[in-house]
Amino acid sequence: MQCPKCSNEMKENEHKGIKYDQCKNCGGLWFDALEAEDLVEIKGSADIDTGDAKEGAKLNKKRDINCPVCNIRMSKVHDLQQPHIQLETCAVCKGTFFDAGEFKDFVEEDFMDRIKDRFAKNR
Ligand SMILES: [Zn+2]
Ligand SMILES: [Zn+2]
Repeated sequence: MQCPKCSNEMKENEHKGIKYDQCKNCGGLWFDALEAEDLVEIKGSADIDTGDAKEGAKLNKKRDINCPVCNIRMSKVHDLQQPHIQLETCAVCKGTFFDAGEFKDFVEEDFMDRIKDRFAKNR
């Protein structure tokens, strides 16, 4: 598969049974439908985001990309809780692209939110 941002080759990888693709060049991560949400449930999944966050921030500005699976223009979305996390998602295959550093941000914030929820419930 080709990276939708920098056109380099993406390598298939796996973390605790969940497959994902990572770009060898920019470190961007590709997940098929719902894989990203599944990964958030798994401890230590932020570690798969090994790319350079600075490089990711640069590529985050490039948003008119095509889905590497369906080859159609992807939709630009952002995380509701964290508007600085801007993702591209495919309306057809539901695949999602995270620039380097974004997935880590996404996972960690989610984890903190859950801790806060837990405290709120205990009170
Ligand atoms: Zn790339
Ligand atoms: Zn697609």
